Parts: sequence; C-alpha cells; structure tokens
Amino acid sequence: MVAQNSSQILGLVLTILGLAPIIAVLLNAWTSGISFLDLSALYDFLWTNWFNIGFGIRFELVYLAILGTIIIILGLALLARRTRKIQEVTVVTDDLTVTLECTVCKNRWAEHFAEAQLQAMGFPQNRRISRRRCEACRKFTRPKIIGI
Ligand SMILES: [Zn+2]
Repeated sequence: MVAQNSSQILGLVLTILGLAPIIAVLLNAWTSGISFLDLSALYDFLWTNWFNIGFGIRFELVYLAILGTIIIILGLALLARRTRKIQEVTVVTDDLTVTLECTVCKNRWAEHFAEAQLQAMGFPQNRRISRRRCEACRKFTRPKIIGI
C-alpha cells in the first residue's frame, strides 16, 4: 500500500516536473512574439534558441521540450499503473466461485463470477446463467447455479 502511494506521488511529481520546462519554453516563445498557431515559427524558435544551464553549457530549447514530454509520459505511466492495480484488487475481492449444474446431464463444475455480474443476471431470483457448452455432454445448456 505504501509502495503504491509513493509510486502515485512520484507519478504526480514527474508529471508536474515535466510540465514545468514545457511551460517555460512556451512562455519563452510567447514573450518572444511567437504565435502558437504558427507551428513552423514555433519549431524554428525551438531550434534556434538556447537554454543556458550555466558553466558554459547550453542546448536548444527543443531538447528541453522533448525532455519535458518524456518526463510527463513517465509520470502518467506511473499514475496509470496505480489505477490498474486498484482495479485488479477490486476484481479479486468481488470474485466468487460458483458451482454450476448442467440441466441435461447434471454434470457439476465451478466457475468464477464477479459479484456485480451475478447481480446483473438477476441472482438469486434467477439461478440460470447464460448459454454455454457443457464439458461433459457437449450440449449447449443454460446451467443452474446450485451453490456459491
Ligand atoms: Zn451436460
């Protein structure tokens, strides 16, 4: 749980960190009178202007924009991973093992259903589930729920 929280915080921090240089670059372009609608002018601006990090080291603004984009993608990937984990946990806790009986040959087998899925089928009033092939008699049947 702690690990999941920290990966979400890291994802959020990375997304904000990635946005900062992009906003800085766009603000820089805007104050230089570049219209964002004029993509070729913006593109030229990114390649002809320099970002100074001191010690005589500088690089084109386009690299700053690319770096920001990569950091944002990493941040969003971390946030997305967290969301998927929550969904997996929800599925596991809702999962029920249901004993089904073939109405033709009385063969019994177990299947996993989500609790919400059972409710959507009208269980417990409706104990017959959707049509499927019985493994024992190979006939199509609407098996009966005989136990959870
Ligand atoms: Zn059967």
